[in-house]
Amino acid sequence: SEMATMMDVPINKIIGACMSLGIMVTMNQRLDAETLTIVADEFGFEVEFVTADIEEAIQEEEDRPEDMETRAPIVTVMGHVDHGKTSLLDYIRKENVIAGESGGITQHIGAYGVTLENGQKMAFLDTPGHEAFTAMRARGAQVTDLAIIVVAADDDVMPQTKEAISHAQAAGVPIVFAINKVDKPTANPEKIKEKLAGMNLLVEDWGGKIQSHDISAKTGLGVKELLEKVLLEAELLDLKANPNKMASGTVVEAFLDKGRGYVSTILVQSGTLKVGDYMLAGKNHGKIKAMHDERGKSVKEAGPSTPISVLGLDGAPQAGDKFHVFTDEREAKQIAAKRTQLQREQSVRTQRHITLDEIGRRIALGDFKELNIILKGDVDGSVEALTDSFQKLSTEEIQVKLIHKGVGPITESDVLLASASDAIIIGFNVRPMGNARSLADKEEIDIRTYSIIYDAINDLKDAMEGMLSPEM
Ligand code: GDP
Repeated sequence: SEMATMMDVPINKIIGACMSLGIMVTMNQRLDAETLTIVADEFGFEVEFVTADIEEAIQEEEDRPEDMETRAPIVTVMGHVDHGKTSLLDYIRKENVIAGESGGITQHIGAYGVTLENGQKMAFLDTPGHEAFTAMRARGAQVTDLAIIVVAADDDVMPQTKEAISHAQAAGVPIVFAINKVDKPTANPEKIKEKLAGMNLLVEDWGGKIQSHDISAKTGLGVKELLEKVLLEAELLDLKANPNKMASGTVVEAFLDKGRGYVSTILVQSGTLKVGDYMLAGKNHGKIKAMHDERGKSVKEAGPSTPISVLGLDGAPQAGDKFHVFTDEREAKQIAAKRTQLQREQSVRTQRHITLDEIGRRIALGDFKELNIILKGDVDGSVEALTDSFQKLSTEEIQVKLIHKGVGPITESDVLLASASDAIIIGFNVRPMGNARSLADKEEIDIRTYSIIYDAINDLKDAMEGMLSPEM
């Protein structure tokens, strides 16, 4: 009925238009974004979604090249469980305290900064693992510049190692390998490098370009050199930001502290954040009352690549939410209110992911150049066979890209990766495990499962040619 009023057409005409689309509605029903667009089009109207409007109010100041200054890299540590991610983060946290600084890092705030002996700075996200990394990405936030992937030298390149590699690659984030636990008598770093080479990941010792260093997160052996290699890799990225403007960045974590109120750790990515600034972060806002670094020390200002915990927001924003500073407090409040309202009306969805049914149409429209696929199968043989066949389906118009493949069930981490990279998931003789299915429904990720190789290939081929009959 709202729509009828807006377009000034009788309600029954709109109900009729919906029916002709096969959608039975009542006058009080909320329509999804796609239906709204199609129905409006029938009556000669074009739909503009308010999300776009309100977000437009957030205009970042333009940076001139001369305003840009080198910033510290932001690093995430990933790898298989028990290979030593936490130990490495702890070691770096303990050892690399600023010269002359008393006491190490005491607070866990979700991220921390370190200064190396030579004065160079780096920031680490303290939520190790590729799930956290990709969950942020699925929310539209890319904060990591580089990934350290830890592989235990007394173990092997494991499924989660492979996942971490795919997740970093899908995000376009350079990798530095940390071959860990070399203090152990059973450690065999060469075996790990050989395995990586077998996956087309040639580390430097093997004549490749990928940096890698043998370390022990327990004794600290090689950690300094590892960080130097990370910095070297960072130099190639030529990371820059303008520190002289209002701050913006991403929320890393947030919680309610009984004594202090809402505490949010944020990572400043651009500009400089100051106590007293008015901040909008996701659906929350407020004037910053105080800021603390990972040593619990009160600070007045935080520039690019600085993780900092802030007090003063009216709630806990979500990890991955963007934040901005506003001069106009009213404007920030309005946007926060609008976002809250939009979230309530979750039926209005503007961001949709690719589905197999849609591929043909999108290719025909010409706005679709790469088809990202995540492939999971029951055995290596079928995964390899399908990979080959899928890749052969690439045409001049569209490239089929296997952004991750592996043996095992479809996991939540696969769904997150699909969401972050707009991919479809294909399972061969495997099914979604745990909460993967419900997460896929929520994120609107297309999961197709097959038990006959020929069917999987044919479906994809048909879809790409726009010939796939819709799944009922
Ligand atoms: P995560 O699951 O990847 O975070 O792994 P943890 O950091 O929790 O490490 C798993 C186990 O391996 C712990 O018992 C650590 O003490 C041990 N560990 C980690 N790094 C090393 C290392 O370099 N040498 C040895 N000997 N043990 C290590």
